[in-house]
Amino acid sequence: MRPVLGIHHITAICGNPQENVDFYVGILGMRLVKRSVNQDDPFTYHLFYADAMGTPGTALTFFPWDYLPRGRVGIGVPLEVALAIPEGTLAYWEERLRHYGVTVGERTHRFGERVLPCLDPHGLSLALVEVTNREAVPWDESPVPPEKQILGLHSARMVVYDLSRTAHFMTATLGCIYLGTEGEWHRYGVNGGGSGRFVEVREDPGAVLGRYGVGVVHHIAWRVTDEAHQEEVQRRVIAAGRHTTRVIDRFWFKSVYFREPGGVLFELATDGPGFAVDEDVAHLGESLVLPPWLEPRRAEIEAHLPPLAYPPILEPGH
Ligand code: ZN
Repeated sequence: MRPVLGIHHITAICGNPQENVDFYVGILGMRLVKRSVNQDDPFTYHLFYADAMGTPGTALTFFPWDYLPRGRVGIGVPLEVALAIPEGTLAYWEERLRHYGVTVGERTHRFGERVLPCLDPHGLSLALVEVTNREAVPWDESPVPPEKQILGLHSARMVVYDLSRTAHFMTATLGCIYLGTEGEWHRYGVNGGGSGRFVEVREDPGAVLGRYGVGVVHHIAWRVTDEAHQEEVQRRVIAAGRHTTRVIDRFWFKSVYFREPGGVLFELATDGPGFAVDEDVAHLGESLVLPPWLEPRRAEIEAHLPPLAYPPILEPGH
């Protein structure tokens, strides 16, 4: 059985898109590797932040649906996204975030790693986690020095009514490994490799139902090598009694969606063809990119999208 290769990307819902760019590029120093639209709602941006190359496993992406109410984490809606940072940079990050007025939590340890929780401007819970042996391609134009830059996704945290069902699905269907338990958190994922590696799951039979809205995660995408690998995993998902979508062409990757037994929306995303398929790597994210089938509607779509100042200019916080 070929397991998934780790996390491919995580997509969340944000408010004002300029504030989202200001935070992820201006403060976190990630690269906007793709400025596109939600393919099912083309008058809404789809913004992708990643390392310099948009390496699979480094992308955190957003739908700016600022007309939605605040989301609520709970069953079906993950609690937090963790981003990997180089070992020894936690103090740098804490000072940088405080300088810009970001809400920062208490430093802590999880599974032997040093963690700094914080909130993005629209209430999405993030954590920066120091890791070793993780490679990403630094972005020369980042406001963060190359040796301190974010290395991509680390993990996501989710709550379920019944741990055993999600645990069995993670291991027997997706092929992930059970990696240990700390307190009430159970870690599943892959060892090694260059991408985000884990989900951490907590069982809570009394948890509230989550609700999509501003400031919460929409889905977690898992890496598969190619379409054959995707079909293999999709077959196992169907055999486990889950409904999946057909394969959807997202142009930079192919996608299949389904809900894991705990209710969180998962996706299987292929590693290729990647974000450089339609843009020169030197100019990723600088202009609006549409998949070919939306290109005939470009003028109409551009007229509906708010302008974005990029790269952003930031003032220190208060
Ligand atoms: Zn996705």
